[in-house]
Amino acid sequence: MNGMTGSLHGKVAIVTGGGSGIGRATALMFGAEGADVVIADIDAAAATRVAEEISAQGGRAVAVEADVSAEADCVGVVAAAVETFGGLHVLFNNAGIIRRADAIGTSVDEWDRVMAVNVRSVFLMCKHAVPAMTDGGSIVNTGSGWGLKGGGNAISYCASKAAVVNMTRALAIDHAAAGIRVNSVNPGDTDTPMLREEARQLSEDWAAFEADAADRPMGRAGRPDEIARAVLFLASDAASYITGTALVVDGGGLA
Ligand code: NAD
Repeated sequence: MNGMTGSLHGKVAIVTGGGSGIGRATALMFGAEGADVVIADIDAAAATRVAEEISAQGGRAVAVEADVSAEADCVGVVAAAVETFGGLHVLFNNAGIIRRADAIGTSVDEWDRVMAVNVRSVFLMCKHAVPAMTDGGSIVNTGSGWGLKGGGNAISYCASKAAVVNMTRALAIDHAAAGIRVNSVNPGDTDTPMLREEARQLSEDWAAFEADAADRPMGRAGRPDEIARAVLFLASDAASYITGTALVVDGGGLA
């Protein structure tokens, strides 16, 4: 990748949900910046493809099949980092799912699954990653614009992302003394397979969906690499005095 500066040289990084979209773009950027990358995804084939892409660009990466809502899998992801690359410095908790329904249309099982994948995963990954960050580190959690304001027809998702934003602040306070910074990055609509699927379900033409001026003053959705750059900043020493913050990357949508 052009313009890279080696800002994660010598660091070991985990990216959850690294097989697609924002996670994939970030894993590739981390690899290009010199990090050794563990790509954890419930989709093993997708994780493997991204690990191969990093290897092809001259980096080091390993793919781990994991459902990050399950504690044993989170333990395995952290162990893969320590055993394969000798430590852990950066954790990007990015895996997430969305269910489009209001309270009436959301089943208890759907509510529980969204909470498990989007919220419990962040708790579990931090629970097991923090003790492995023996030289300090940086954790970035993926919130959402919908964790900072309400959104229609996505009650479980909005609740889950607000939980991620505030859990991030609690983690930042608890682990500051150990030299571990914890921040959330909060994307607006970003052109990933997740958002394309949403547009399809709404039967909306992508170009019209993307240009919807009410949500997108810049007239377009974000690109995965535009979110990845913000994650890289928070993950790197360039953000050495930033912890507990919620960084919004949404082209002005929240404004
Ligand atoms: P995506 O669907 O393209 O990628 C998500 C990845 O997470 C996939 O590879 C998927 O297999 C993986 N995943 C899902 N459940 C998992 C589990 N239980 N364990 C491990 N991996 C799992 O989505 P994306 O748009 O890149 O979203 C990434 C994150 O960004 C999510 O947390 C999402 O909520 C958030 N986000 C996305 C947008 C957007 O517009 N795309 C906006 C705000 C926030």
